[in-house]
Amino acid sequence: MSQDESLPPGSSLYEHGVTEVAASERTSVTVAACPVCGSDEATPRFEIEGVPQRMVVCTKCGLGRLHPMPDAETVRHYYPNEYYGEPGIKFQSLVERLVRIVGARHISFLSGGLRGRARVLDVGCGRGVILGALADRGFEVHGVEVSEGAARGADPRAEIRIAPTLADAGYPDAFFDQVIIWHVFEHLEDPRATLASIHRILKPGGRFIIAVPNFSSRQARLTGPAWFHLDLPRHLYQFPLAALNDLLRQTGFAPESVHHFSLRQNPFGWVQSALNLWTRLPRNALYTLLHHRAPGAQPPYEAATRRWLWFWLVVGTPIGLGLTLLETAFRNGATVHVVARRSSAASPL
Ligand SMILES: [Zn+2]
Repeated sequence: MSQDESLPPGSSLYEHGVTEVAASERTSVTVAACPVCGSDEATPRFEIEGVPQRMVVCTKCGLGRLHPMPDAETVRHYYPNEYYGEPGIKFQSLVERLVRIVGARHISFLSGGLRGRARVLDVGCGRGVILGALADRGFEVHGVEVSEGAARGADPRAEIRIAPTLADAGYPDAFFDQVIIWHVFEHLEDPRATLASIHRILKPGGRFIIAVPNFSSRQARLTGPAWFHLDLPRHLYQFPLAALNDLLRQTGFAPESVHHFSLRQNPFGWVQSALNLWTRLPRNALYTLLHHRAPGAQPPYEAATRRWLWFWLVVGTPIGLGLTLLETAFRNGATVHVVARRSSAASPL
């Protein structure tokens, strides 16, 4: 079979090749102060196809970030419309159904400890799947999104504000019982300012739940530039767990628990990263195949490639699940979510 046929136009606009920076060029460069530790020294690590930025790693705390940091207008171009999928549908229906089943467990976790008509905000709510499910449980749900297109088709019970940053959304002080930022934080240009805003709008003692890929995970280290969760150049930052916890404490949060198991993210991350690393299939081909396309559109790959991808999905998923259970046992999840409380009265910024 041929595994390297090119995609039809437009079917994988958001896949950029990633390669390791040559060892001879991995010498420390001066960059803007690190938002976690303040160091201005970093080491170039990855080249990203099609953009002038590189991903550099802070020599002190290990935070990965794009350098130079692109401006907001440039970042907007990293997200073609199809990134968000059709209103209400991001994946093919079978996968969509699985996403919803796994989602039910996820919602139980997110709503644990909330009482009565607790007020909840989802930052980067997209099509509002989380908010719809939380509304079913009787909570008052709010969402903020940068993209009107992404929020289209969201649950009408969710009060959604469209704003370029959380600060621009204009929520009052101490307004929310809980703020969720689920696989969105790494996409935002100013992590400290985002945390300061969340601190301000959370009630004292309110709960904050943040999920990010874990740049210090074995999945990230073993698969390097092939790691599925790198998602360059859209992920402006790559957080090692220790750096994330550090940043939370510095911005007035007390981390309470760290969760290393994600059925939705972590086994798939193993399978897709392994395919990126060891096959000549296009980068993130499995993800592209599972991603919803407009009805009647051509499938993204020829039949033989699609059969291979389904084969690897079926064979790889149990292996990926096994590795995920191992990384959970070692508290080294490929993606992690941290539950924290707003710990001090004033934002330290
Ligand atoms: Zn740093």
